[in-house]
Amino acid sequence: MRAVVAQFIFESNTFNPVSAELELFTRGGTWLSDEKSLRAWSVTAPSQMSGSLAVLEAAGWATAPVFAAMCGSPAGRMSRGCFAAIRAELKARLQAALPADAVVLHLHGAACAIGEDDVEGNLLAMVREELGHKKLLVLSLDLHANLTQRMLTHADAVTAYRTMPHCDFVATGERAARLVLGTSGPRTRTLAKVAVLIPPTDTSHLEGRFARILARARELEAQPGIEDISVFPVQPWMDIAELGTSIVVTGTHELLARQLAEELADEWYAQRHDWQTGVLSWNLILARLAIKPALPWILVDSGDTTTGGSTGCSAEALKQLLPHATALPGEVLLWVVDPATVQHAKGKASGVFQIGEPRVEWAAEVIYDGPGRYRARGLAYTGQEFSMGPTVVLSSGQLRLVVSSEPVLGADPALFECVGLSPDTALAVQVKSFTGWRAGFQAAGERGLVFDGPGCSSLVFSGLPFHAERRANLFPLNENPPTPVTLWQSN
Ligand SMILES: [Zn+2]
Repeated sequence: MRAVVAQFIFESNTFNPVSAELELFTRGGTWLSDEKSLRAWSVTAPSQMSGSLAVLEAAGWATAPVFAAMCGSPAGRMSRGCFAAIRAELKARLQAALPADAVVLHLHGAACAIGEDDVEGNLLAMVREELGHKKLLVLSLDLHANLTQRMLTHADAVTAYRTMPHCDFVATGERAARLVLGTSGPRTRTLAKVAVLIPPTDTSHLEGRFARILARARELEAQPGIEDISVFPVQPWMDIAELGTSIVVTGTHELLARQLAEELADEWYAQRHDWQTGVLSWNLILARLAIKPALPWILVDSGDTTTGGSTGCSAEALKQLLPHATALPGEVLLWVVDPATVQHAKGKASGVFQIGEPRVEWAAEVIYDGPGRYRARGLAYTGQEFSMGPTVVLSSGQLRLVVSSEPVLGADPALFECVGLSPDTALAVQVKSFTGWRAGFQAAGERGLVFDGPGCSSLVFSGLPFHAERRANLFPLNENPPTPVTLWQSN
């Protein structure tokens, strides 16, 4: 038996006006399409592909890893050219490797392109056509995926991450492979769509409401005829059709799958008022920063999270902390994406800089000028390489500001270490990530100080320019959406 394995991970925030180009993968992230490099990568950077290859090979299957593209950072929609290039590469690599008994696809599930709201559905339709209808197509997704009926029409079985912040990439790959090995009759996929958006700051797999929903899914999944129950608190910054939280049940027992999906969806909907953003006022944040703990506080820039597809261009933390720059009891490490300031600061010892969007003026010294390339060392994206492009560090008082040319998944201490800063001994470190920092910095939730500033990933959903259809149909944009739960089942 033989399986072809491919991985494509990209996440869109459709409120981000900057479209994603291929360089986001080829220069800032990962782009591999030859087997030797893919096998080497799956060893150095533990991923879904590492997990599925290991399980399939242990079961005696021949495997063919054919393609991996990982973005350096989520962004806006992919440009038409970028999406066309990725689709064409995946198709060509598949055609060269097929026929096979199964294809395992590791996708994100929240990728959009200009002219295509459902990138994963589009790719799955293409893969299904190449593979044929009698062979197995197994899909793994990020838990921020927006599930569509098209995706579930073409995939035979689905699984997804069960951690937030995400640190179960390998385990998810292993589960996907077990869905290849474990077929025991015709399967259905049942989708329950819940008309609710929730703040990602309140979805830890370790504690609280989301942890309880995951535990409930594990309990229900143990029943005969049920193979996988995945829950998807969707990435909320996509102004697209079919947006909503999803529950997907894969199994052979159609009726039970439907009942369980509906049960979990009803439980989810009943809790819609309980989710918290965790946003603090700057007065409260400054009061916390007056105390220097043994480990750094984490300043969570929720409005401008690059992990949520924002641009990384907001200098809100700098603006708020500037009046206190000399009084702070330790170094505060900040980060902003601003290629113009990098160019302006290059080769200078000091200057007056106009930083970020909206602009913040700051007279500072330039203490680093060079590349911004690092390998993640925390528990999320461990071993993955990221490039911020040409980077400078500006300094004045207790503030150190990393200014990079390009955004990255900014939730790892190595982002600061690669430019000579010491996050472990700082008073505070800014991240542009909702919860990924908990894995990146291996830090408890209490260390997070969440603020909401300018950007495309605000937690105040009603302030975002959602289309009227989303405003009418999704909580909390509408207090009482007309159809709280929608059920769909593949045949
Ligand atoms: Zn995610």
